[in-house]
Amino acid sequence: MTASPISTFQELQLCAPLLHAVTALGFTQPTHVQAQAIPAAMAGGDWMVSSQTGSGKTAAFLLPLLHRLLHAGPAEATRAATPRAVVLCPTRELAQQVCADAIDLMRGASEQLRGEAKQNPLRDALRTLRVATVVGGMPFGKQLYDLRGAQLVIATPGRLLDLHSRGQIVLSQTQVLVVDEADRMLDLGFADDLAAIQDATAAREQTLMFSATFAPRIMALATKLMRKPGRLELATAQDVHADITQTLHWADDLGHKHKLLEHWLRDTEVDQAVVFASTQGDTELIAEQLQQQGHSAIALHGAMPQAVRNRRLQNVRDGHVRVLVATDVAARGLDVPSISHVINFGLPMKAEDYVHRIGRTGRAGRSGIAITIAEHRERGKIRAIEAYTRQPIAAQVIPGLEPTPPRPRPAKPLPGQRHGQRRPAGRGGNGYGRDLRREPAARTR
Ligand code: AMP
Repeated sequence: MTASPISTFQELQLCAPLLHAVTALGFTQPTHVQAQAIPAAMAGGDWMVSSQTGSGKTAAFLLPLLHRLLHAGPAEATRAATPRAVVLCPTRELAQQVCADAIDLMRGASEQLRGEAKQNPLRDALRTLRVATVVGGMPFGKQLYDLRGAQLVIATPGRLLDLHSRGQIVLSQTQVLVVDEADRMLDLGFADDLAAIQDATAAREQTLMFSATFAPRIMALATKLMRKPGRLELATAQDVHADITQTLHWADDLGHKHKLLEHWLRDTEVDQAVVFASTQGDTELIAEQLQQQGHSAIALHGAMPQAVRNRRLQNVRDGHVRVLVATDVAARGLDVPSISHVINFGLPMKAEDYVHRIGRTGRAGRSGIAITIAEHRERGKIRAIEAYTRQPIAAQVIPGLEPTPPRPRPAKPLPGQRHGQRRPAGRGGNGYGRDLRREPAARTR
């Protein structure tokens, strides 16, 4: 990861337990976004930060948040949860990942404090510091149980508002609001929910917003949510993914795509791979086919019950599964350093999603490989991705799996024939001829 003028965590004025925690996690140097966002957040005021997934942005907001919470002293016991800090995430998986990262940092901090004097106030504060996730698809009862006394709540907007409207969570004492992946929040239609949360947390002292871009719609959201925010413009979606090698294969048809996929997955260099499919149904069909070929593969998509999604993700994290076949929504927040390959089997709906997808590999300074398999008719989508990332994706050919060169298009449709009539009957957009849903499925509640 890129170095910055601040080159050590010690320079960031974080308390000793948190410094111990980052060392325990093996972080030797702050990443670029951490070196900039941590001092800014600790100094106070509202900040908007452009940063990509994989840049270390989670610790960039969790470390100053935890520092603040540890120094705020032990929480008072109240009946309804009254969090001092709320982190909003667009998807359940991302919220759960952020929560897991917070717990890792707290665990590291408590190791350091274990050796400290009993009357150390940080020790008391950490002992009573509770973090909870509030996401849709999980049983209400367990969430309410976890929420008791939680000072840090990591939530998806819909479920947070549900609990707020039932009086089970009080937001009037929230001091800090973090909006993670704000661009994605808008894509998933959370603008109204964000406005409601903005009202409910009107007494807050600080808002931090992280987004891949500062596109005009993000700036408009920032104006609504923040007071004269400072801007930290770091890596943008257009930056070169220096650690990720990107490759393109042209394929003739679905059968050809499967052969290319099988070729790549037989490569022993693949530690773990995420194969992206366009629809929920495709993930299951591809995973089934891979299992039949003897691969350790599972599907993951938004229509699965949350408990199943969690179990499957855990199997990937634990290394029990080598190939995860997922939709865009389901794979969000997936942070598994051993993912060596991302394979785009179905192309993303939007060029922006391509950047998020390939960011599942090459994490934390490791190198990764991103392979895109496209049919000739998808040339326009590939061009759109290249235009968005402002870099060409080099096409490669595998001996024995060469595509047939595309036939030149006729200049004009034949008399009496309209454009689009020449497609073979019965082939749906997903190539499987079944009516299968494309994600984003429903918004996360
Ligand atoms: P994020 O962008 O927050 O999803 O983080 C991407 C990955 O980088 C995660 O696996 C983090 O554990 C890891 N990471 C975060 N900060 C650092 C750091 N300072 N040094 C090394 N790895 C880090």
